[in-house]
Amino acid sequence: MTQKSSGGAEKTSFSEERIAAYATIIGKEELEELFQLGELVRATKVQQINSARRGGGVAEMLRSLIPFERGLGLDVSWEVISAGPEFFTYTKTLHNFLQGKPKVPDLVGTKIYWDTNRRNYGLIRKDADVLFIHDPQPAGLIKFASTEELQHQRWIWRCHIHLSHEYHFVLDFMRTLIEDYDLAIFSTGKFLPPWDVRTTIMLPYIDPLSEKNRELPPEQVPEICWEHGLDDLEKKPLITLVSRFDPFKGQEYAIEAFKLVRKEVPCQLLMVGGTAGDDPENEAIFAQLQERVKDLPDAHLLNLPPDSHVEINAFQRAASIILQPSLKEGFGLTVSEGMWKEKPVIGGDIGGIPGQITDGYNGFLVSPSEKGIEEMAQRIKYLLLNPYFATEMGKRGKEAVKERFLITRGVRDELRLIKNLRKTII
Ligand code: UDP
Repeated sequence: MTQKSSGGAEKTSFSEERIAAYATIIGKEELEELFQLGELVRATKVQQINSARRGGGVAEMLRSLIPFERGLGLDVSWEVISAGPEFFTYTKTLHNFLQGKPKVPDLVGTKIYWDTNRRNYGLIRKDADVLFIHDPQPAGLIKFASTEELQHQRWIWRCHIHLSHEYHFVLDFMRTLIEDYDLAIFSTGKFLPPWDVRTTIMLPYIDPLSEKNRELPPEQVPEICWEHGLDDLEKKPLITLVSRFDPFKGQEYAIEAFKLVRKEVPCQLLMVGGTAGDDPENEAIFAQLQERVKDLPDAHLLNLPPDSHVEINAFQRAASIILQPSLKEGFGLTVSEGMWKEKPVIGGDIGGIPGQITDGYNGFLVSPSEKGIEEMAQRIKYLLLNPYFATEMGKRGKEAVKERFLITRGVRDELRLIKNLRKTII
């Protein structure tokens, strides 16, 4: 159940029974540990701040995390900064630079960045003990905290993007911000920057009981595919790629690999994406992809609203193979989502993806470049022609996600961190 409070913050209730349902997946003992940890940190007031309520991986995780932690008795709230389009154009430029791809820098944007962060400072709960600030967009909030506030609050920056080390002037901008934080969290050790701030690694997670990942009634999957114009899945096995329309997600490589496969094996490709409130590139990249597939039979391109969770779930379940050929990737929740659904996932060998896929065992890794096109085509053909192997690979994928990438592990990591931070709060 979801309701809006007058302050715009989303209040979500999540009963203890709902949490108990996770025991069927992870076992009673692990869940018991979460309740015990919850008891220990109940008195701590926690706030999470990001830049989009819907769309993209951070919103996906917070949507499940907040009610879960509340169900454990925590006093945790989630706020989203409000900003105009110029702010998001600037922060997407910053995001692209940080991931190693320059866009035309917008100098005026720096002023908008600071004005917006200053304006949003009022979102910070004065009584918060621990603040998790996600990604670069709201990272500037810390600069408006008083010395006294910084003394009694712990500020954590959680970085979900692929932090490349190419552009020093952009990294320096982030460094001067992040060095004020008590801790910076990254999704893999590969991204750790040489900054003067304590760092740690925490893996992202998916929620197996969310609309995105829960089991669906078997008849609903083909129904949703049919409603969206897909062909008979028996005749043309489906290859699915779920991603925002973004320069790093690799849709253009997927199209080229699909062209090679389709010459030899009947199949269909679905690239589905949607908007995120903090990503202004959706329309332009969607238009470029439309142009690329307009004369390509069996290629489907869908731009859906960001809350199309059941549809995405169905497209992942309908797939014989899932692709995520990213060029840069902070983590790539879509990889774990596909693996959880027992699908063989072919992912770019970059960023957080190899942390999820063990090449040849529970998925395939391909070069995150043009070289990856031929590699991807080979692997797709192999999987389509060897369904037994694909099924086994998918089963192993689910096991890997169960062990390492479920929300229950994510909550445990966060509660342990909060417990340790409490000792340092004055
Ligand atoms: N997603 C979605 N609709 C879309 C595209 C993506 O619901 O049209 C979801 C996807 O299922 C995943 C999240 O958004 O849960 C994307 O997270 P990921 O870490 O893969 O990438 P990000 O968008 O954060 O770079």
